[in-house]
Amino acid sequence: AREPVLRPTKIRDDEDRLLRPQRMEEMVGQRAVYERLKIAIDAALKRNEPLGHILFDGPPGLGKTTFALCIPRHLGVSVQIASGATLKAPKDLIPYLTNAEERSVLFIDEIHRMQKAVEEFLYPAMEDFRIDITLGEGVNARTLNIRLKPFTLIGATTRSGLLSAPLRDRFHMREHLDFYTVEELAEIVRRNARKLNVPIEDDAAEEIARRSRGTPRIANNRLRWVRDYATSKARGRITRSVAEDALEMQGVDSLGLDPQDRKYLETIARVFNGGPVGVEAVAHTLNLSPDTLVDEVEPFLLRCELLIRTPRGRKITPKAYEHLGLTGLRTPQP
Ligand code: ATP
Repeated sequence: AREPVLRPTKIRDDEDRLLRPQRMEEMVGQRAVYERLKIAIDAALKRNEPLGHILFDGPPGLGKTTFALCIPRHLGVSVQIASGATLKAPKDLIPYLTNAEERSVLFIDEIHRMQKAVEEFLYPAMEDFRIDITLGEGVNARTLNIRLKPFTLIGATTRSGLLSAPLRDRFHMREHLDFYTVEELAEIVRRNARKLNVPIEDDAAEEIARRSRGTPRIANNRLRWVRDYATSKARGRITRSVAEDALEMQGVDSLGLDPQDRKYLETIARVFNGGPVGVEAVAHTLNLSPDTLVDEVEPFLLRCELLIRTPRGRKITPKAYEHLGLTGLRTPQP
C-alpha cells in the first residue's frame, strides 16, 4: 500500500513567509500607523540617529510582527528577535543587548510576559544605552557598567495594560493596531490568492474577508483552507459558493465566528444567564485559560458588540442572543 502523502510543515512555513509583506508599502490598511512610522524612520535616517523605541499593541494576527520586521529592512539594519516569555532573568537579555549593532533593532514579542526584574534591567538600556551587572555577592559584590551601542527596541504586546508605566513611558512611539475592514481584508485575500496561484472571484474574496474576524492572519488561514477545499471539490476555482461551503464545513458562520467563539457566548447565555460573569468562571467551564479568552476570543466579540465588559463582569448583548438563535433563553433585564 502507498504511504499517504503528508504535507510537511516546512511548506506551511514557506507559505507563511510568502504571504507576509516584506516592506511596509506592501501592507494593506493601518495607513495612519504607516504614515507616522514613515516620518519617524525618515527623520532618523536624515539625522543619522537610531530610531526611537516603538511599542505595538493590539489583538493577535493584526500585523505587529510584520511591521516590526519591515522597519529594520527599511532602515537597512540587522534585527534580533526575542520573546518576552523566554526572558526570565536579566542574564537572558544580556546577550541580545551586548550583541546589538549600532542602530540595529531588537524586537521583543509578547513583551508583557517579561519578568519584572528583566523589565527593570531594560530601563537604563533603553534610556542611556548602558547596563549595570552585579558580580559576586555580599561585601565582594561589585557593579560592572557596560556601554551598549545605540539600538532601537521594538516591543509587541496583546496587552499593553499589563506593562508597567515606567516601561511604557520609555517607548517614544506607541502604536495601536486595530481590526481591519472587510474591504482591506478582501484586498489581502485577493493578493494572497495571486501569490498562491489560485483563481478567486471577487465576491468569494469578500466572503472570506467577511468571515475572518477583522484579522489578516485568520484571512490567510481561511484562504488556505478554502483553496484546499476548492482543489479537492471544485477543480481549484474559488467562487462565492465554494468559499461559503468550505467555511461552513469548518463551522465558521456568517459573522466569521468559529465554534470556540460560539461556545464562549453560548456558555455565558446558558450557564451564566447571560452574565455578568467573571472571565475566570467562563474559562473554567470551557476548560480554557483566561488568557486565551482575553487575548484571542473576546476582542472581536467586543468589537462586534456581541459582548460587553461591565465592572461586574462579561455580559452578552441582545445581538448575541439573536445571532445564536437563543432569543427564547433571554431573561428580562432588570
Ligand atoms: P501575534 O501577536 O500573534 O504575533 P501579529 O500582530 O504580530 O500577531 P503578524 O504575525 O504580523 O501579526 O501577522 C500575521 C499575518 O497576517 C502575517 O504573516 C501576514 O501574512 C498577515 N498580515 C498582517 N498584517 C498585514 C497587512 N497589513 N497586510 C497584509 N498582510 C498582513
